[in-house]
Amino acid sequence: MASITVLGTGEMGSRMATNFAQAGHNVTIWNRTQEAALSLAGETTMSAAQTPSEAVKEADVVVSMLADDAASREVWLDSGSGALNAMKNGAVAVESSTITPTMARELAAAAEQQGVPFLEAPVVGSRPQADAGGLFYLIGGDAAVLESVRSIIGVNAGGIRHMGAAGDAATMKLAINGLFGIQVAAYAEIVGLLSRSTVETQTAIDLLAGLPITSPALQRILALYADRDFAPNFPVRLVAKDFGYLTALADELNAAVPVSAATSDVYSSAQAEWELDIAGIANAYLR
Ligand code: NAP
Repeated sequence: MASITVLGTGEMGSRMATNFAQAGHNVTIWNRTQEAALSLAGETTMSAAQTPSEAVKEADVVVSMLADDAASREVWLDSGSGALNAMKNGAVAVESSTITPTMARELAAAAEQQGVPFLEAPVVGSRPQADAGGLFYLIGGDAAVLESVRSIIGVNAGGIRHMGAAGDAATMKLAINGLFGIQVAAYAEIVGLLSRSTVETQTAIDLLAGLPITSPALQRILALYADRDFAPNFPVRLVAKDFGYLTALADELNAAVPVSAATSDVYSSAQAEWELDIAGIANAYLR
């Protein structure tokens, strides 16, 4: 059994840490708001540390699951409390947050300078998949490093795909979320339009859900419209963050993304739905 540290015990990180502990690993956790880590540690065998650097001292593998680039930079790279320069020799750093490819490369470069084996490992799937240990991992970094931690990542994984060098997994993750978010926004506005027409809304939703144009993911979203049950799995605030990263990447690549840019505006201006699930963007349109 390994010593694993999880940095960030938000909705996803807390579930991943719990799965590591239930698999019998020795788990240390750290969270910016300490109460969250203390309360999780109090209910489990995990121990809570006060700083990232303290949390990682004994770890064989350090996993982070943080909100964004700013959080990731601070937690890994801060010269005082940061994790990277406190890790023991041979320990592996695994960054699972959804961050920009630029940030993933910055972390990879910093890790290389410190002699720390590093993987970026963003995940596809949300809270239910995290509960079930069924997240799909996209990996950027050295394939040999992946093999060295495959069984540990596997605790939370329904699938693992090596994408290439650091940054490639972040790029693929933003692409996947882009495709998902565009579809969710499109269905929300079209069903919103239907709800203002003389067509009976639920009849329209049922019809759409049974058509081959509607993916299984969108069928699940449409099923939430009836009761407007938009309790968060993947909150709009994180969707908006990811679209900001996707459109910034498009700028860097000189890629035309008019649909992504319009969708980015939809999510970033949806302040009323900020803490709702991505499906809750429909609240902005449904009558
Ligand atoms: P969350 O519940 O909002 O948790 C965010 C975590 O980041 C918390 O631990 C938070 O600490 C920490 N954090 C935020 N800003 C920080 C800062 N400046 N310094 C240090 N820590 C900071 O989000 P989540 O749903 O767990 O998502 C975590 C990551 O996974 C995100 O990158 C997200 O895009 C990605 N992701 C999410 C889903 C999903 O469906 N939710 C699916 C796949 C990937 P505090 O408790 O102190 O705020």
